[in-house]
Amino acid sequence: MSDPSPAPTRLSLLAEEASGCTLCGLAAGRTQVVFADGSPDADLMFVGEGPGAQEDIHGVPFVGRSGKLLDRLLVEEVGIERGDCYIANVVKCRPPGNRDPRPDEITACRPYLEEQVELVDPAVIVTLGNFASKLLLDTGTGITKLRGRSYGYAGRSLVPTFHPAAALRGGSDVLANLRADLVRAKLLMAR
Ligand code: URA
Repeated sequence: MSDPSPAPTRLSLLAEEASGCTLCGLAAGRTQVVFADGSPDADLMFVGEGPGAQEDIHGVPFVGRSGKLLDRLLVEEVGIERGDCYIANVVKCRPPGNRDPRPDEITACRPYLEEQVELVDPAVIVTLGNFASKLLLDTGTGITKLRGRSYGYAGRSLVPTFHPAAALRGGSDVLANLRADLVRAKLLMAR
C-alpha cells in the first residue's frame, strides 16, 4: 500500500533521514547535511551541484555568492522569490575544498533527489550546471550543448542551464543565457 501521509510530511521525514546519512565518504567532512530550501508545493524546482562552504555552515542551499545571483535572477526573470520554488542539490554534503562530487557520491545521494522530485512534483525543473544536467538527462553531453531548449523528464519539463557560479566567472554571455533559460522555464510553468 502507498504511504498515505501528505507529501510535505514525507519530505520532512526524508530530510530527517538524510540528516544522519552515512552512505558516502562526504559524511565525514560535513558540518551538516544541506537537504533543500523553499516550498514543498513549488511548481519550479532547481537542482544544483552540491553545498559550498557557506551552505555547509548554514545548512541551506545556495546562500553564498551563487545563491545571491540566483535569488536576483529569480525575481528579475521569473518574477518569484526563493520561497516560492524548491532548491536542492545533486549531493547533499559539501565535497571537501569544493571539489567536484565523485560518481560514487552522486550515486549514493541520487535516491534522495529522486524522492524530492517525486514528492515536490514540480511542473518544471531547472538543472544548474553540468552535474545536475548530465545526471537527470542521463547523458555525457556538457551543459553548453545541452542548454537552449527544454526536455521531458518524468512527465515534466526540464530546462538545463549554466550554474550561477559560471555566470559569476564567465561574464555577460553566460549570464544572458542563464537569464534566457529562466524565461524559458517561466513560459513552461505558465502552460
Ligand atoms: N553551488 C551549488 O551547486 N549548490 C549550492 O547549494 C551552492 C553552490
